[in-house]
Amino acid sequence: MYKCNQIRLQQTIEYFSRFGATENGGVTRLSLSEEDLAARQYFRECCEALGMEVKVDDMANMYAVLSGKYDLPPIVMGSHLDSVVKGGRFDGVLGVLTALEAVRTIVDNDIELEAPLMIVNFTNEEGARFEPAMMSSGVITGKFEKETMLRSVDREGITFAEALSKSGYEGKAENRLKEAYAYLELHIEQGPVLEAEGIEIGVVEGVMGMVCYEIHIKGESNHAGTTPMKMRKDPMLLAAKLISYLDKELGDVDETLVYTFGRMHTMPNIPTVIPSEVIFTIDSRHKDPNIMEQVENILRSLPKEDSGCTVHANKLWGRDTVHFTPAICDEVEVACQRFGYSSRRIYSGAGHDAQFIAAIVPSVMIFVPSAGGKSHCEEEETSYEECARGADVLLESILMLQAKQSLHQPITTK
Ligand SMILES: [Zn+2]
Repeated sequence: MYKCNQIRLQQTIEYFSRFGATENGGVTRLSLSEEDLAARQYFRECCEALGMEVKVDDMANMYAVLSGKYDLPPIVMGSHLDSVVKGGRFDGVLGVLTALEAVRTIVDNDIELEAPLMIVNFTNEEGARFEPAMMSSGVITGKFEKETMLRSVDREGITFAEALSKSGYEGKAENRLKEAYAYLELHIEQGPVLEAEGIEIGVVEGVMGMVCYEIHIKGESNHAGTTPMKMRKDPMLLAAKLISYLDKELGDVDETLVYTFGRMHTMPNIPTVIPSEVIFTIDSRHKDPNIMEQVENILRSLPKEDSGCTVHANKLWGRDTVHFTPAICDEVEVACQRFGYSSRRIYSGAGHDAQFIAAIVPSVMIFVPSAGGKSHCEEEETSYEECARGADVLLESILMLQAKQSLHQPITTK
């Protein structure tokens, strides 16, 4: 077994965290910004120094390839280098840098590769500059229309198309990731489960399905001082009632179901006026489609009228659970056992490029713990020891997959 170099990995993570460094130890590295381009340039140099060839596709996704003995479909690792505004030093970048560390260890040890190894950096995963999130993995897997994405605009009015052509990273569509033997994405958990349970590695079986509904309540606007309570049609009081009702009902569905009332609009939003309308959202996630069906039934069967107000539940969006490839989950688990690292199976509640890539390549994700479950903030933290364990497991997993591939064993999805 080969172990990665924790000191080198730490130095690399620290070096990358300079690109877009914030005052409080985080990073702001929006997609195709100056900071992102600097990080991309350094990533390219690191890969080329290892003898890798770097290609770029028409969505600016970067692919660094270390060739193998035979011209076989590559084993792909990676994630994204972009971040949210005031994000952390680990989200995304850790998947790219542990992959880099794995390749460095392979080169150091002259490990012979049968098939090529590839590191990918997906463009605009966060969707923090250009909506939607996971834009470029979405385009290459046919989930999003490229033309629509090119028109996506940032806060300064710059389109993705403009940023792309200015970046120098507008490559050819023929370079897009197509055929590959497997895709492995290491990521911080972004949740508190691994840390709370004292577990070192999460073997990610998939990404939870989700729904988002908007509950629209219409009442009657009137004077806050002169209208007796009994004569009101107050949508805000009804919203409060419905939220408590939903908390009770959804809380009883399943203990691992999560739900969030994240946004609320009230009109006219004035302290001295009974609102005329209240709109709030509910986002709910679970891996089991039957549970999600129950959630939707509860939302759809809200009363259409109550307390003199009308209620409409509109579905804004939803996605089905994505299941990663069980055979690769098993390999990752064996890799953990070989190092004596504790692991558990887990589903991701957050979205990742891997959920789209899974549609075209057998995929898996590897989670390392997030201190306090924090992410998308400057306090995001994973110890270097935990990062290095992740890199070890990533390296061992790809070497095991290589061995399988050289025996011509196909990995079946599902
Ligand atoms: Zn991420």
